Amino acid sequence: MALAFDEFGRPFIIIKEQEQKTRLRGLEAQKANISAGKAIARILKTSLGPKGMDKMLQSPDGDVTITNDGATILEQMDVDNQIAKLMVELSRSQDYEIGDGTTGVVVMAGALLEQAELLLERGIHPIRIAEGYEMASRIAFEHMEKIAQKFDYGVSNFEPLVQTCMTTLSSKIVNRCKRNLAEIAVKAVLAVADLERKDVNLDLIKVEGKVGGKLEDTELIYGILVDKDMSHPQMPKQIEDAKIAILTCPFEPPKPKTKHKVDIDTVEKFQNLRQQEHKYFDDMVQQCKDVGATLVICQWGFDDEANHLLMHRNLPAVRWVGGVELELIAIATGGRIVPRFQELTPEKLGKAGLVREKAFGTTKDRMLYIEHCANSRAVTIFIRGGNKMMIEETKRSIHDALCVARNLIRNNRIVYGGGSAEISCSIAVEAAADRHPGVEQYAIRAFADALDAVPMALAENSGLQPIETLSAVKSQQIKENNPYCGIDCNDVGTNDMREQNVFETLIGKQQQLLLATQVVKMILKIDDVISPSEY
Ligand code: ADP
Repeated sequence: MALAFDEFGRPFIIIKEQEQKTRLRGLEAQKANISAGKAIARILKTSLGPKGMDKMLQSPDGDVTITNDGATILEQMDVDNQIAKLMVELSRSQDYEIGDGTTGVVVMAGALLEQAELLLERGIHPIRIAEGYEMASRIAFEHMEKIAQKFDYGVSNFEPLVQTCMTTLSSKIVNRCKRNLAEIAVKAVLAVADLERKDVNLDLIKVEGKVGGKLEDTELIYGILVDKDMSHPQMPKQIEDAKIAILTCPFEPPKPKTKHKVDIDTVEKFQNLRQQEHKYFDDMVQQCKDVGATLVICQWGFDDEANHLLMHRNLPAVRWVGGVELELIAIATGGRIVPRFQELTPEKLGKAGLVREKAFGTTKDRMLYIEHCANSRAVTIFIRGGNKMMIEETKRSIHDALCVARNLIRNNRIVYGGGSAEISCSIAVEAAADRHPGVEQYAIRAFADALDAVPMALAENSGLQPIETLSAVKSQQIKENNPYCGIDCNDVGTNDMREQNVFETLIGKQQQLLLATQVVKMILKIDDVISPSEY
């Protein structure tokens, strides 16, 4: 601190910014960063694989989330450390690009950091480690291409897609009905996929959930689901070949914008007014009927009189439908949103093969299914479950399964799971290390050891001896020249992952490798950490 004076002679204090900061340099900085990254990886390690544990997270306002999804765990953990934030970002980018493998990528990065720490202690420069890692990741990336397999699928033959989605779901809380959910995810993706262009617009798949029922009741609806019911209990519950008027104008007489006074001092005047009002309603209903609408979906409410009249004139109606849903309905049914009754024309009506109202058990809950829509291939996955937490977790798991199915449609190559691909890459990288004359050789070998972290974590989480199991599987892979041997987490009796049908997408696994290597390289290259001090 220093005392200085301004041009008017007033004293002021200069605080030297740098003194207020803590600073870590060189090896100390790298070690601190590595231990922060490792700490995050350690948390996620126990969640990996079909026998992985779940985490319970409580938000500041008391909401509880129970999940097994790496990206969600990290997202909800309130991490302060900058390097830890990088790991969170890493998991998020895997989620964004691929949608699955968010735990695996962090475990992999953690293992790479751990190995790097050992190399740093042996005096190898971080840049050499980073370069070695880069070379090794390229070798592993190419080796994955070699062991990957292609499979054919079609709209009628989608079993391989289902099997791959089942691998994703088998490590989630919802694995009890993974077959069901995997089929739903695959059918949903195929419904909206453009198979010629090999592209899928996941925005067309709406995932809805409602507490109640069983997880097994989760269904795929070829259309739109709206959490609303018919405005009058006596209106028909099912309409076939519906022509839908989608309105943003209310069913009510126009209201004067400024204050007006109506003097009603005789019975005739009152009756006159009532008749006028009645006529308004009647005209509105008539206008809808004239254009041929058989169902009205309205953004606004309408009072009892209008409701009664609609029922009487046999025009079913739904009220208070939100703007977003209204738009979705308009897109799906090929209709137009109409802001005024006068503007209604037959072409502006939406068309749906079936609109039905469904009640759930003994509750008052009812929902509207709009199916077989004219235009769009939009589908809805409707999740049922015992409580809100379960529904939220199912939504996250379904998201992963949808992403996997989409990835397979984009690129139908797979590698086998259960750590088999990692072990095979580890063997290949290890072999390649000997061919490199420089110091990078150590880093390449360390990369091979880091690749073993995923199968080891899988074994450990399944209650197996990690080192014994890994070495047994590795020697089996070499002996039998079979890159499909992995960890038999579920104690099926064979560790050939082809027989167990445990698949993962090639692009997902490759992305994991690339992302983990990039982040670790980034962390290794930081040798100066300047941060504001605690006080
Ligand atoms: P992530 O969030 O990274 O997808 P998961 O907890 O879903 O993590 O675990 C995925 C790992 O579990 C993958 O390495 C996968 O190969 C493995 N796995 C999934 N199902 C099985 C199974 N039935 N047997 C052995 N390994 C499995």
